[in-house]
Amino acid sequence: MKTTSTHSSLTYTYEEMSKKNKEYLWHPFTQMKEYMEDNPLIIERGEGRKLYDIQGNAYWDGVSSIWLNVHGHQVKELDNAITDQLEKIAHSTLLGMANIPSILLAEKVIEIMPKGLKKVFYSDAGATAVEIAIKMAVQYWQHKGKKGKHKFITMKEAYHGDTIGAVSVGAIDLYHETFHALLFPSIKLPYPYTYRSLHKQEEIVKKNLKEMEQLLREQSHEIAAVIVEPIVQGASGIIVMPEGYLKGLRELCTQYNVLLIADEVATGFGRTGKMFACEHEGVTPDLLTAGKGLTGGYLPVAITVATDEIYNAFLGDYEEQKTFFHGHSYTGNPLGCAVALANLELFETTNLVQEVADKSVYIANRLQDFYRLKHVGDIRQKGFMVGIELVKDRETEEPYSWTERIGGLTCRRARELGMLLRPLGNVIVFMPPLASTIEELNEMINVLYEAIADTTEREG
Ligand SMILES: *Cc1c(COP(=O)(O)O)cnc(C)c1O
Repeated sequence: MKTTSTHSSLTYTYEEMSKKNKEYLWHPFTQMKEYMEDNPLIIERGEGRKLYDIQGNAYWDGVSSIWLNVHGHQVKELDNAITDQLEKIAHSTLLGMANIPSILLAEKVIEIMPKGLKKVFYSDAGATAVEIAIKMAVQYWQHKGKKGKHKFITMKEAYHGDTIGAVSVGAIDLYHETFHALLFPSIKLPYPYTYRSLHKQEEIVKKNLKEMEQLLREQSHEIAAVIVEPIVQGASGIIVMPEGYLKGLRELCTQYNVLLIADEVATGFGRTGKMFACEHEGVTPDLLTAGKGLTGGYLPVAITVATDEIYNAFLGDYEEQKTFFHGHSYTGNPLGCAVALANLELFETTNLVQEVADKSVYIANRLQDFYRLKHVGDIRQKGFMVGIELVKDRETEEPYSWTERIGGLTCRRARELGMLLRPLGNVIVFMPPLASTIEELNEMINVLYEAIADTTEREG
């Protein structure tokens, strides 16, 4: 089938593009041997909450193009922000100089951050935002005369990105085994997890905080920071934190003089029904990382935001060499900052965060029906972040073996039914664009249900 691109006069066939794709590209998190034997999807354009492939098929963007998209695709306000900026300049550096969009965006970001976060440091991916937070934390303690404080506490199964520093503070075994020799060690404590636990939520919170306190009491002189995905641990399977833990963790970090890094790359910008997940418990971290939704899913911009206490520790005379030694070629990219600013303005005019909070009640109600499916073990949700864990046996909570690929098969079925999803093991992730309407959510949830039913309840 021939298609005409909407943006140029080129025409290309699926066969042509498929062949070139297989010849020249190496895809992320993809076993290429298998991919080569498949008929991969090639997206040509997006509009609203839908993506269209080169053959003209439409799909709901059921995971917001991997947790990024906010208002949808081809949003006029965002498109215009980029083309307007393009008439001025596409890029100039932030090393020792400034540009207008990066200044205006920083002002806006500080306006909406949890109170007390004051300075924005730009980068271009969640992983780099985390690298920056790690380096800031370690250098901060050096400036404070505490060189011994350079270790990190993280949560089991945490995910903070794929660069070496970010993997070091992550805790997903598969990645750790492979790159073990390159990683710096971090101390791992369990994330408060309620599924498959016999304890009540309050008991889990208490027990986990107690463990944290014991560790801090013994080792805080060596600990630079605790890093945590606040309220929802994403890549481990959309694990929702029980109430009270984050607040307790903040108190312990303050008490034991250890920094708290909140990695809001997934949860930030309205995803959980608050602008930032930390707001659910009135917490201000010392460092906050964000990315994904910052540009509405348009361009790669990420931020590490610090308190004045941290920022001020880096001030000094030139000879003292207290400068923060970090930067990237595209730090503070004007096109990215311009679209991020337009994105945040659109949040306000559409009252989007409140809309997400309201519509997530609708999602929660619809999801209750899913327990009719006998292989649905656990449904976890905070705002527009949903994880449905499929199990072999609901009574015993026995998981499917990873070799059964139940998550992958379910998402494949969803694609046939018209929605793009990507699983986390046996957990089906549903993360619709934040501006999805009730009607759109309704259709997406219908596909989700059908895909799970077809895959887990078919004969044989
Ligand atoms: C996605 C994610 C990252 C990594 O962000 P990239 O932009 O993919 O580098 C880091 N932390 C969390 C919590 C994430 O969900």
